[in-house]
Amino acid sequence: MRGQRSLLLGPARLCLRLLLLLGYRRRCPPLLRGLVQRWRYGKVCLRSLLYNSFGGSDTAVDAAFEPIYWLVDNVIRWCGVVFVVLVIVLTSSIVAIAYLCVLPLILQTYSVPRLCWHFFYSHWNLILIVFHYYQAITTPPGYPPQGRNDITTVSICKKCINPKPARTHHCSICNRCVLKMDHHCPWLNNCVGHYNHRYFFSFCFFMTLGCVYCSYGSWDLFREAYAAIEKMKQLDKNKLQAVANQTYHQTPPPTFSFRERVTHKSLVYLWFLCSSVALALGALTVWHAVLISRGETSIERHINKKERRRLQAKGRVFRNHYNYGCLDNWKVFLGVDTGRHWLTRVLLPSSHLPHGNGMSWDPPPWVTAHSASVMAV
Ligand SMILES: [Zn+2]
Ligand SMILES: [Zn+2]
Repeated sequence: MRGQRSLLLGPARLCLRLLLLLGYRRRCPPLLRGLVQRWRYGKVCLRSLLYNSFGGSDTAVDAAFEPIYWLVDNVIRWCGVVFVVLVIVLTSSIVAIAYLCVLPLILQTYSVPRLCWHFFYSHWNLILIVFHYYQAITTPPGYPPQGRNDITTVSICKKCINPKPARTHHCSICNRCVLKMDHHCPWLNNCVGHYNHRYFFSFCFFMTLGCVYCSYGSWDLFREAYAAIEKMKQLDKNKLQAVANQTYHQTPPPTFSFRERVTHKSLVYLWFLCSSVALALGALTVWHAVLISRGETSIERHINKKERRRLQAKGRVFRNHYNYGCLDNWKVFLGVDTGRHWLTRVLLPSSHLPHGNGMSWDPPPWVTAHSASVMAV
């Protein structure tokens, strides 16, 4: 079969070459010359349509998955509001259970100093959660200015067709470039970038702290509530059986009241919700703390990992230019050069601008000496 095909294709190619050769000559018939010119023009058109110096298998895969990306981006964009409402509703439900179910129980059993400690700690933690969540969802992450020539840029955004400063990335959900973009958070319905990264991290940290506090503090109540629910189920089962068999000749045993049932079920819900959020959000918070200590964002982590491997293959060492050392990275992240002590910034709610404008990344003067020592290492 292959031999037959080559027998047919060989003479056809030869004829085509002869035609092209004749087409180059001026004395060939005009019809043939026109045909050859059209053939060459068609070939150039086809090549210009398919040729791209940036093209490759990645571009082909991206193009093939473009409808799925579009769908995911739109779903996340529209679900953003739902997720924010969910966070508010779930947090409010925990606060309501704490006031309506836990408080009446601990008022009867706890000593006054213990009650005071729980009262002050829980309200301080709640204020910090609400403050940082509000700031994280309402503070814009920071966008590169339009039409300015005095900023240092490193590339052009292919989507916005605008210059991009260092550490800036395009968010396909917000559909614009974001300064020092970390990621798009559906739970905030906002991008996490230069101006709200600290609020996002503080929210994760204090929410985890609050969930651990609720989960640990309500452990004894949860165990009692769980045992009570099991007892409730058994009583209900016995009652049904008794009704079916008509064996009662006296008053049936007392069952739980509606209020008791609601309280027990609410306590179990509180413990399960707080424990699962503490585990999931705790892992996320630790991961972001590691990234901040390294002077990286979530996006830069992938880029730096690739770059580290590439340079390693060439026998060279990769160095992250935005890593000033663990302690100084945290100081830059918390904005210690804007007035207050870093500890007060962590423990008290504060609305302030972070270090720098998110476009130029020269280290602050107080970290220059340290970064120099890091570079030397
Ligand atoms: Zn862009
Ligand atoms: Zn975004």
